[in-house]
Amino acid sequence: MNSNRTEAGRKDSVYTKIWNAPVPNKAKTTAWRILKGRLATCENLIKRNVINLSVEANCFLCATQTETLEHLLFTCPKTDEIWCDFLGWIGKKTALHRSTNAHFRAFTSLGSKADVQFLTGTWICIVWSIWKERNNCKFNQGTWNIQKIVAEIKTRIWSWKLAFKMQSPSLDSKDFFSNSGILG
Ligand SMILES: [Zn+2]
Repeated sequence: MNSNRTEAGRKDSVYTKIWNAPVPNKAKTTAWRILKGRLATCENLIKRNVINLSVEANCFLCATQTETLEHLLFTCPKTDEIWCDFLGWIGKKTALHRSTNAHFRAFTSLGSKADVQFLTGTWICIVWSIWKERNNCKFNQGTWNIQKIVAEIKTRIWSWKLAFKMQSPSLDSKDFFSNSGILG
């Protein structure tokens, strides 16, 4: 198999995992747009000439760098902290990739095969929640509160697990909402 075909195969498996994930459609659609690079971040709006580069390009959360998709979701200090928190929660120490597809693949491979569905749902929930909360802060004067966002994400994952019968570690709610190594 040449490298182009390998890359195409990887992308196919990423999209299949997203579409088969036991999560609400709105979250799935946002994750899909993220993986396709089609979210309306500042960088993408500049490319489409919707906003002006010099005035509005900076990340709304840290105000120091251009708001690219990868910056907003993965490398911004305000969102990197959320990923660190979740790595601690699932009990894995690793450096995650900066590119969206590689980040998704690395995160969903952190556990055993039985954990893939849970990790896929968790990844979707984190990126969707970051995007939702960024919009809430930007357009509704919300406040970026990492502890609150992390707690909300866990509550969402728990409710998706129940509503969509997500295959996940067999934990009671007390252990699930604890802060330590749920995948051991
Ligand atoms: Zn930032």
